[in-house]
Amino acid sequence: MSTSISYEGVEKVFHGKNEVRALKNVSFAIEPGELFCLLGPSGCGKTTLLRCTAGLETLTDGKIFYGDTDVTNIPPFLRNIGMVFQNYALYPHMTVFENVAYGLRVRGLSAGEIKERVTEIMDLVGLGEILRRNPSPKALSGGQQQRVAVARALVYNPTILLLDEPLANLDAKLRRYMRAEIRRIQKATNITTIFVTHDQEEAMAIGDRLAVMKDGYVKQIGSGEELYHNPKNLFVTGFIGEINFFTGAITEKKDLSYAVQLKAGNGVLKGIPRITCDETSELVPGCEVVVAFRPETLVVQPFAREGILSGRVQIIQNLGHIIRYTIIIQEDGEEKTIEADMAHKVEGVGEGDMACVAFDFANGFLFPQRGEE
Ligand code: ADP
Ligand code: MG
Repeated sequence: MSTSISYEGVEKVFHGKNEVRALKNVSFAIEPGELFCLLGPSGCGKTTLLRCTAGLETLTDGKIFYGDTDVTNIPPFLRNIGMVFQNYALYPHMTVFENVAYGLRVRGLSAGEIKERVTEIMDLVGLGEILRRNPSPKALSGGQQQRVAVARALVYNPTILLLDEPLANLDAKLRRYMRAEIRRIQKATNITTIFVTHDQEEAMAIGDRLAVMKDGYVKQIGSGEELYHNPKNLFVTGFIGEINFFTGAITEKKDLSYAVQLKAGNGVLKGIPRITCDETSELVPGCEVVVAFRPETLVVQPFAREGILSGRVQIIQNLGHIIRYTIIIQEDGEEKTIEADMAHKVEGVGEGDMACVAFDFANGFLFPQRGEE
């Protein structure tokens, strides 16, 4: 039976030389059996929220529930939590078997039960063969050590599993492989799991849903697809996937149609843009705005005088599935780099050439430009 986890108005302030508000009014719920990612830049509060979830930090305000149970004041050792950290923190003086068995020994299981359970869980994480040799953890690779750490956290059937950047110390190829492994193991056990990472690609690959955090706030929650296609604010738009921002001002609005005078080039965008933010009432003529385009929605064309936007092609990269054009444009008297992805090379446009960039307003996200907290 998996449990849900819910946060109600969670606040965490660290009092020290400088007071840090690490979590600000965090309220959301994680479904039973969900693999949920906390994603955000370093220092945004991911680890703090994980430690609060485990009971390792006391809340300044708010409540945390496992299912219907208010666990806010329950100490960590009574919560039955499995945790895995970036540094595997295996006991170096114990064998692999003893590392995994440890949590069962302190719970007083019999030798027979321990052997059976350790064997089962090591098979699940793909280390059945290693267990038969039973070496010291020091003899294992980074990926194997991290699997042992996962086995050790899962062996006593925790109510929830908390993983704090567990793949950060692995090399890029192994990290991609381990993403799939973590997902497979989590789905096999169905234990409600929180996975922390600052890597948006990793979060999108692993999580059923993600919470994007910034400065102690949860900025948006959704599946990777929802966040990519319906970002609610400029921060999420820029953090999930790649994006080009253009500034301008609304000059006309009629029903769903807008005209936006861009500061870059001298063009006016006209039509029905994508509006995914909540501040729609601010989108009126005179409003300063940002229009955001994914690289795959921009179209590189040979230079022509009547183009809406032109710039100099700095680099053309063949990335296999796409050709990426890096182009320097002028916006408000300043140089700015934009990226456009094309399915094929554009005839007559080489590195160092002037080129035009065309866009379809229907692919642009329209946001009011104002200070975000
Ligand atoms: P993340 O895991 O997203 O990188 P953290 O949760 O570790 O971020 O930190 C969030 C903020 O809280 C940071 O500004 C950090 O410096 C601060 N912080 C974390 N732990 C403590 C602590 N024990 N004492 C004081 N400040 C802390
Ligand atoms: Mg952290």
